[in-house]
Amino acid sequence: MLAISLTLLLIAFRHFIGPAALYHHFYVADKDQWTADRIQSRSPSEASIVWDKKQTLRSILTDGLMVAIVLALVSSGAVEFSYTMSADQILPSIFAFVALLFAQDLYFYVTHYALHLPPLYRRVHALHHRSTNPTPWTSFSVHFVEGFTELMFYPLVFMLFKLNIYVVLLYVFVTTAINLFGHAGFRLEKFALGRVPGFSWVALCAFHNRHHQSFTGNYSLYFRIWDKVFGTEFK
Ligand SMILES: [Zn+2]
Ligand SMILES: [Zn+2]
Repeated sequence: MLAISLTLLLIAFRHFIGPAALYHHFYVADKDQWTADRIQSRSPSEASIVWDKKQTLRSILTDGLMVAIVLALVSSGAVEFSYTMSADQILPSIFAFVALLFAQDLYFYVTHYALHLPPLYRRVHALHHRSTNPTPWTSFSVHFVEGFTELMFYPLVFMLFKLNIYVVLLYVFVTTAINLFGHAGFRLEKFALGRVPGFSWVALCAFHNRHHQSFTGNYSLYFRIWDKVFGTEFK
């Protein structure tokens, strides 16, 4: 029951609380403080923000469908979660968390690259790219096919590995936050985290913003690694 409540809260965070809070912080409440750190000098258009808001709210249904699929897999026995954490499970859980980040980033890279192939781009991914100057509301403004494809990563992993449900929920929370910040539209390097050694490998906001401006390149979401490996990073 706790896991279900947290899942519903997480859906609300992904599609309303998170984008609304970040948008309010960067574009309304502390607008003047962030002006110098804006990646694109022009402001995002009101029409594209309204469009993204509608699509973000609509894509709640995709999350709901994926939760239903996972629940069906749990009741059929194809997916099993652990609900408690003993001391000897802490290290494997940290490893699982990091492994998930790298695996999902590769999954995202491959599917995102495929979504940029002409027929798929026109029919599916163009919806997300309507905003060439993204805001936090753009993060989940995606076509149903795209949202479903990206979320399919979860049941596929759950069928292969038995994970702790609370580690999974924490993982979804953290990666949602990365996605929201990735679309914020501001240089966030001045945050303390930006000065941590090795942090330059993280795909910061400017990295994904460039993807929205130039379309082909910078396909990863969490790290710059896969774009470096496959030679698709913008110089
Ligand atoms: Zn994007
Ligand atoms: Zn794209």
